[in-house]
This record gives sequence, C-alpha cells and structure tokens, in this order.
Amino acid sequence: MTLSVDSVRSTITTHFINGEWTDAGGATFPVYNPLDGELVSESAAGGTLEARAAVAAAAAAFPEWANLAPGARQLLFLKAADIVERRTEELVELMAVEGGASRAFSTFQIRLSAAMLRQAAGWGYLPAGDVLRSDVPGRTATVTRKPLGVVAGFTPWNGAFYLAWRTFLLPMAFGNTTVIKPSELAPRSAGLVHAEILAEAGFPPGTFNVVTHAPGAAAAIADVFFESPAVRCINFTGSDKTARILGAQAGRALKRMVLELGGFNPVIMLEDADVEESIRAVTFGAFLHQGQVCMNSRKVYVHRSLHDEFVSGLTARVEALKIGDPRDPEVIIGPLINDSAVEQIVARVKDALDRGATLVTGGKADGRLYPPTILTHVPADAMCTTGADETFGPLLVIEAFDDSEEAFRAAQNTPFGLSASVMTQDRARGLDLAARFDTGIIHINAPTMASEAALPVGGVKDSGWGRSGYYAIEDFTELRLTTMSSEPGRYPF
Ligand code: NAD
Repeated sequence: MTLSVDSVRSTITTHFINGEWTDAGGATFPVYNPLDGELVSESAAGGTLEARAAVAAAAAAFPEWANLAPGARQLLFLKAADIVERRTEELVELMAVEGGASRAFSTFQIRLSAAMLRQAAGWGYLPAGDVLRSDVPGRTATVTRKPLGVVAGFTPWNGAFYLAWRTFLLPMAFGNTTVIKPSELAPRSAGLVHAEILAEAGFPPGTFNVVTHAPGAAAAIADVFFESPAVRCINFTGSDKTARILGAQAGRALKRMVLELGGFNPVIMLEDADVEESIRAVTFGAFLHQGQVCMNSRKVYVHRSLHDEFVSGLTARVEALKIGDPRDPEVIIGPLINDSAVEQIVARVKDALDRGATLVTGGKADGRLYPPTILTHVPADAMCTTGADETFGPLLVIEAFDDSEEAFRAAQNTPFGLSASVMTQDRARGLDLAARFDTGIIHINAPTMASEAALPVGGVKDSGWGRSGYYAIEDFTELRLTTMSSEPGRYPF
C-alpha cells in the first residue's frame, strides 16, 4: 500500500505486522479532517490479537536486527531518508488533512525526520563499550552496550510525523525492534506512513510493526505491551495524564519507560531584550501548529519598560498570520484537532476574562479555527496562567514584571520542566539565569519551540524523562559487564 496525493483521502488502512499489511477482520474506524469533518481514512480497529502478533513479530526479528552489520543498517536508514524527501508533497497533504498541520509545520517535520534518519544511520559504527581496569589480578573487564529487545511506542497526534520517527527510529538505530501504537486521531501520519517508507527502504520484516485502534481501545493494546516479557521498554510521547496511567502499569510490570510529555514553557524578556527579535521568536514559539506542540510558549514575562512595545508589535505580527485550510501554503494557523480542544481554549479564555483579564487579540472560535489569542493582566488564579496545565491551543499570556528574580521564580512555579527561553542582549546574564532553570531545555535568544535532530530534547519534572538524538542511547540500550580471569581466584572460604 502506498499513498499518493490523490489517495490521501478516503483510504482504508491496515496494520503493518511482520512486514505485511493485515486488516483486523474488517473492523475499522473513521478518521476525519479536523477542519471540515471530511473522511480522511477508514483505519483498522485493532486490539489484543494484533498487538500480540506485532510483539511476537518484533521479538522474532530482534536477534537478526541486533546483529546486523552497521553498514547494512546504515544503508537502510539512508534510503528511508531519501524516500521521506521524495514523498514531501504527499506527506504535507497528509499532515494537513489528518492533523491540521500547516505547510510550515509539516515541512519542518519532514526536514527534521530526514536529518534524524541520516544521523542515526551512522550510530552503528560508534564504540560499543569500554575496557575497564580491575583490582583483581589477571582479570580483564569490559562493558558493552546491548540493545534491549522490543521497544513498544505510543505516538501522539500532534507533530505526529516527526515524533513517530523519534519514537521508533532511535530504538531501532541502537539495535532494538519496535511496535508502534499510533494515536487514533492520526494513525497514518503517526505510524502507518512510516511503515510504508521502511517497507520500501527494505527494512527486514518484523523490525517495525504498527497496530492501529479505534478511539477508546488504546488500553487493551497497552495491556499487551506491559504483559509481554519480550517488550523491554515503553517509549511514550503524549500527555502527563496518560503517562500517569501507563506509569502505574509500568511500575507493576517493572518495565523501563521513556516519557516525553507536555510543558508550560515560559519566556523571560529582560529589559535589554531585542524587542523585534523577541516578537519574531515568540510568534513562532507560541503559535506554531496553532499552539498544539509540547514546546509552545504559554506565557511571556516581559520587563515593564518593554511591555507595551512588545505587546503591540506581537499583536500586529500574529494578526497578520493567515488562518484557514492548511492545504493553502500561505496558511499558518490551521484548525484545532477536535471539538474538545476548542472547548478547552474557549473555557480557559472565558475563565480569564471573567476574572478580569484583558483580551488583546483573538478569542473567538470559528468552528475548529481559533485565532492566535493574547491575554494580559491575567489574575494569578486563572486556569491559563497558573502553569498547572497546558492550554493546548493558540493562547499566550503576557505579564509585565519589574524584578527579574520575581519573574524567574514565577516562571519556575510550574510542575512542568520541558523548555524555557530568556531573551537578553547580555549573554552572561542570560547564561546565569539559564543555569538556574529547572527544565530539560533552556534557550537564550531563541523560541521555546526549537528542535534539531542532533540535539537532545526532553523534560524534567512532570514533562517526563528521556532524551532524543544520540543521547537516547542511555534509554534504549543496557550495559553488559563481562569479565575474564586468567589467574586462579583468591576466595575467603
Ligand atoms: P495523549 O496522552 O492523549 O495520547 C498519547 C498516546 O497515548 C496516543 O497514542 C493515545 O492513543 C495513547 N493513549 C491515550 N490514553 C491511553 C490509555 N488510557 N491507555 C493507553 N494509551 C493511551 O496525548 P495526545 O493528545 O496525543 O498528545 C498531546 C500531548 O502530548 C500534549 O500533552 C503534548 O504536550 C504532549 N507531547 C509531548 C511531546 C514531547 O516531546 N515532550 C511531544 C508531543 C506531544
């Protein structure tokens, strides 16, 4: 099965298990375009049986994949990168109709994905371990990095194309085989299209498997992952709410888990910040993918001396962003993913306004389209500003400060710890503030929303744990200690 631009809509999709496209006995569920409710696909509604078959296929493929020569693996990854680029136009179309992604966001994901594939292609050649010194006479000791086995991945609907690569490509690059359960909201861009690409590139059957499911049926598949001894790690990208459920299961099953979760991602603009640059960085950081990315900025703390200039400049810039059907290449703000996403932002804006906040721009839904919205003078107890929860949409709160230490303490007052930014022309001061931030990522003079294939992205606190890029080796391998003694041992008894 290969998608083409013409067949992006109204396609019936199947699972991908052991290198074959298999249906679930005809059971399907519909996937709709979030913009207009048009049918995008009928996807296979899988469950326990398919999940078990996928895990078995991945387990059977593991020994050969783990021992494949680095050069052979490298060729496969490089080929997959070329296919991703060749299919750019249909991928852009798919991400638009399935997830509401603008061209700017989908091409960003495509570039990152190809870059990650090309980087991962070489990792098989990196040193596989160390030789250690031993105090025991005649003993030599080595530690070797070994793949874990089967890694089962949960992928989200947002940023689905890139994040799905991140979910299985990193484990596979270190010799693991994988089973992916894509989000039911975007089963193709969150997993199935990757199966097409890997199949075309020639990845061996079973190394990569995808099982899709109807809404409400995720837990049955998760149960299979947690119960299967062959699954050695769960790689989850999604919300902290789901992570808490799955984390409890991981505790009971004693499974390793990698968690890439949400964030609140504050920006602090010190009094010497370049206002024009800050406006550009915050527009991108807060409103890329209409605020539905884990690293989007949710709040800007701006020095009072810059507040008015910043707010008026930012407002002018975001009001110029074209809103509409993301298939129009000029559209930057597409639809929110579903009605509950619209209801969440509508409720959060109303709550803030009821408490006395000022609406600077936006604030009115048009179906699933919601404009970039800026609030100022938001009381501290309004839901959108406490930092306790992401408002997963195009809503930004701006707060003026006089004392940067107070702003810093307020920005830190969130259970999340994914990303943050400091805007300042005093690099030393920026570095000093950055060093004290309790986040996995901190940028100086750049948006909170930034990703490069080589850089380790990940959070602390309720934003999860685990890192992308090469550092994922810590998550997806384990160390094997081997000793060899060439002299008789000395024992106490
Ligand atoms: P979600 O938690 O609703 O879903 C994520 C995955 O978990 C999906 O595959 C879903 O089907 C599955 N799932 C949901 N409930 C489940 C259950 N009870 N049992 C088993 N599986 C279940 O998240 P989402 O709405 O798809 O994604 C948005 C969230 O993901 C946001 O919070 C966002 O910040 C976060 N996110 C984080 C990163 C990161 O890298 N840190 C990246 C993207 C998204």
